[in-house]
Amino acid sequence: MLTVLDHLPEQLLDLEAHQLYDQLGGPTLIHLAGRRDPPLFVSVLLHGNEVTGWQAVRQLLRRYVHRELPRSLSLFIGNVQAARHGQRRLDSQPDYNRIWGPGSTPEHAMAQAVLRQMQQRGVFVSVDLHNNTGTNPHYACVNYLDRSTLHLATLFGRTVLYFTKPEGVQSMAFGRFCPAVTLECGKPDQPHGTQHAYEFLEACLHLSALPQRPVLRQDIDLFHSVAIVKIPEEVSFSFGEAGEEPKGSQPHLRFLPDLDLLNFRELPPHTRIGWTNNGFHLEVQDEQGQDVADRFFYAQDGEIRTRVPLVPGMLTLNSRIIRQDCLCYLMERYPLAG
Ligand SMILES: [Zn+2]
Repeated sequence: MLTVLDHLPEQLLDLEAHQLYDQLGGPTLIHLAGRRDPPLFVSVLLHGNEVTGWQAVRQLLRRYVHRELPRSLSLFIGNVQAARHGQRRLDSQPDYNRIWGPGSTPEHAMAQAVLRQMQQRGVFVSVDLHNNTGTNPHYACVNYLDRSTLHLATLFGRTVLYFTKPEGVQSMAFGRFCPAVTLECGKPDQPHGTQHAYEFLEACLHLSALPQRPVLRQDIDLFHSVAIVKIPEEVSFSFGEAGEEPKGSQPHLRFLPDLDLLNFRELPPHTRIGWTNNGFHLEVQDEQGQDVADRFFYAQDGEIRTRVPLVPGMLTLNSRIIRQDCLCYLMERYPLAG
């Protein structure tokens, strides 16, 4: 299931994300030699609709077509099959950013093969490039809080999200043996997202080492995700003010039309996020898998409001993504020691 190459296929850099499948046929790991070792590891298109990573890599590698890379680079191009259809994943596939832990699918085995190869080569730093579907600031996600990892994250920006669930994400697996980040580069197809990711990768290629001093508290806005919010399969929902639907066809839940503008904002208690026509239907799970909906939200007079101060992240208005992944994560500020 994994193709391994030691060179860049000709004209690969001319291809858009949706054209990669025709050339590569599946997940591909490309090892490119540079002046310094061990390699920088970069993964793109674990989610097929999140094309900024591929755009940034194209921009980066075009600069080194006739020049030696300052550091070796191992590039993993993930779900080209879903990218072909502009989808996060196909219905028949597991999520390519949940396959990096234990599991029995061919995709899990493929991810293990990538991890094994990279462990053998050693890895300087791992970078996994993603997009959000909703409006979010650019931010880095980390799964470990050591100094090198936090320095790497703040090289991208001051907003950093620390999480330990869900498991099976790429940066959690690579973080066990090198500094690893997941970068959320805004919505796909935004030129400034590509530019930001490109500049980060260029900086990583030129780094000889990450600083060992502590990251200063004033240099980082560190958040910790405490819960995930899902909408149960049988619950219908929509966005926008109450519409003109005939009685009986209203959705169970209706959210603010621009809900994603709340991402990374510190919401005071009793903030209204939407309406419910029939009780309360959000499913909120903490990191231990406990249902904690009542701790964070309440319904009153047909409105859904927050109960405690909280910071939502990754809110999206895209119903398919909400069904495939979640409505959002709930975060709080994480105190940094030192
Ligand atoms: Zn993603």
